[in-house]
Amino acid sequence: MKAFKPANKIQDLQYFGEFGGVNPSISDSSTYTFLSAKTMFDTFEGNADGCYLYSRHSSPSNLYLGEALAAMEGTETANVTASGMGAITAVLLQLCKAGDHVVSSRTIYGGTYAFLKNFAPRLDIKTSFVDITDLKKVEKAITKKTKVLYCESVSNPLLEVADIKALAKLAKKHDLHLVVDNTFSPLSISPAKLGADVVIHSLTKFINGSSDTVGGVVCGTQEFINTLRNVNDGACMLFGSTMDSLRAASILKNMRTLHIRMKQHSHNAMFLAEKFEKDGLRTVYPGLRSHPSHMVFKKMMNKEYGYGGMLTIDVGSLEKANDLMEHMQHANLGYLAVSLGFYKTLFSAPGTSTSSEIPEKEQEAMGLSDGLIRFSIGLDNDIERTYRMMKKCMIQLGILKDKA
Ligand SMILES: *Cc1c(COP(=O)(O)O)cnc(C)c1O
Repeated sequence: MKAFKPANKIQDLQYFGEFGGVNPSISDSSTYTFLSAKTMFDTFEGNADGCYLYSRHSSPSNLYLGEALAAMEGTETANVTASGMGAITAVLLQLCKAGDHVVSSRTIYGGTYAFLKNFAPRLDIKTSFVDITDLKKVEKAITKKTKVLYCESVSNPLLEVADIKALAKLAKKHDLHLVVDNTFSPLSISPAKLGADVVIHSLTKFINGSSDTVGGVVCGTQEFINTLRNVNDGACMLFGSTMDSLRAASILKNMRTLHIRMKQHSHNAMFLAEKFEKDGLRTVYPGLRSHPSHMVFKKMMNKEYGYGGMLTIDVGSLEKANDLMEHMQHANLGYLAVSLGFYKTLFSAPGTSTSSEIPEKEQEAMGLSDGLIRFSIGLDNDIERTYRMMKKCMIQLGILKDKA
């Protein structure tokens, strides 16, 4: 495969504003006029390209952002949504009806897990949760009723890496849709190029990068996106989790610097991961050779963007984890907060926060321990200084010994 250059694809898109503005005009309307009644009818039927009807269906600002995201993922097109969960639930319910079955990675975002585990069964859609890195187990879980194979490229919070090429092969063999949530690794991994049918992002995280909004996107074929937007039975159209145009315009502007930010997030995370590991902390980062799926990531990645900004360390107990996080926040090293992809480092203990939807017993089975701290490493200009200060906190709390 020729090297895929996702950032080039984004940058090559040109949209000008109504008056020659360097940014596209924001569509500040919920509804649109038609010159003739016939065009209105054709638009309803989905036969009038370039005509807008009503902004829950589509709007120019949302289409601009969608096209930038489709360019990034190398899919035919994309549809933006009001949140990542708005994208995930729409896709799953578009692809599955009552009686259908999903095979999903067991280490996924807490909200997605809760939806598949608690909500979808109410619609008679059942899910088998599997270790996504064990392809034999994945295939074994597939039944005649399975419609969707679901995973995250890099999983939350354990940073397991899905072998998307191999999973795509399995999906093809059993006639399933491979749906990949790529929120943790934008630019670094291009799931559609590796065979995924649908790629989802929570734009809330790295892509928007300023922690000022929630947002989501579904990237896929024109046919699938049309299905989602269908006025009669499209999940995006009918569930109504539509992104606002003003927000779409704002996210598009932030997306223009995504490649620079991702490189810095990855650089900083790699630096800290190597140092932490050397210090003897149990460190999980896909860029480390000790990571079980380091090679899988390496084979899939668009090299220049690195291994991403997420890493975890295990400090042994929840108490120590909480102490350390409070200490680090006090030292202005980052914020004790969920979410990710901010300029500032964010840290949380997943077991009691973002993954608290997952019962304790299951957390244990998947290796989610109490002392785990998940870091979203920020854009710090001087990561060596950050490291020195973090280490000082760890020494003060007895997590690391002072060798000096
Ligand atoms: C945050 C997140 C989501 C959910 O996105 P929202 O924008 O909060 O709805 C889904 N998947 C992953 C991997 C996430 O980190």
